Amino acid sequence: MNRFFVEDIGPDRATITGEDLKHLSAVLRLKKGDKVMLSDGKGSECQGEIERVEPGRAQVKTGPWRPCISEPHHKLTLFQCLPKAGKMEVILQKCTELGINALVPTLSARCVVQPGKDFDKKLQRYRKVAREAAMQSHRGWIPEVLPLVELKKADLSIFDTVYVAYEGEKETSLKAAMGERPGRRIALFVGPEGGFEPDEVQSLVEKDARPVSLGPRILRTETAGMAMVAQILFELGE
Ligand code: SAM
Repeated sequence: MNRFFVEDIGPDRATITGEDLKHLSAVLRLKKGDKVMLSDGKGSECQGEIERVEPGRAQVKTGPWRPCISEPHHKLTLFQCLPKAGKMEVILQKCTELGINALVPTLSARCVVQPGKDFDKKLQRYRKVAREAAMQSHRGWIPEVLPLVELKKADLSIFDTVYVAYEGEKETSLKAAMGERPGRRIALFVGPEGGFEPDEVQSLVEKDARPVSLGPRILRTETAGMAMVAQILFELGE
């Protein structure tokens, strides 16, 4: 069944507008009486029936709202150090499909790309990518794309566990580190193309982060986050 995110939700009706309306009417050619799945983008979903399609909006009669079954119980936040052009969108798209809860673009010493004045525009673009990927992968939650942080200033106090994918870590694998159950709120750090400076890893360790190896092969920065998210949710049975 086709799925849409809706912001305009009443007690027993919801309204689809904007790009989603175009998709609903022009591409899918849905009409009165067709069934759709709706999600509020915050973890709840319901089945609905289209009552009316008119210029500018479609009105849907909604059934009971319930927690979205495709959402992982564990909440993963990916701190991704800025990669070279275009890669952040791929990382965000794939990690949304895999199940992240949020992405934090992160500036570290070896980032080749600097954020620049137009970074707010990039954030808007990333939020659109997250929404589209969440819709395509039948998520009930649109991952948040948070403002840029500098690695050493990241506030990690809300997380139960923080894993840093560190190419210099030779002893502790992610699987071994997960032997101690990680809790529900998990942060992941992935370095840029040039990797982490040792003192950056040390600054995260001082905030209780665990450096982990992702194996004997060095993954590209755009592969590392996806591999980590997939492995963590697999190990947690999600
Ligand atoms: N320039 C670094 C080097 O030559 O060792 C490699 C950096 S790697 C391309 C980019 C990021 O991906 C790393 O900083 C790390 O976060 C993650 N990464 C890639 N492979 C990894 C591995 N085998 N173990 C842990 N982290 C890895």
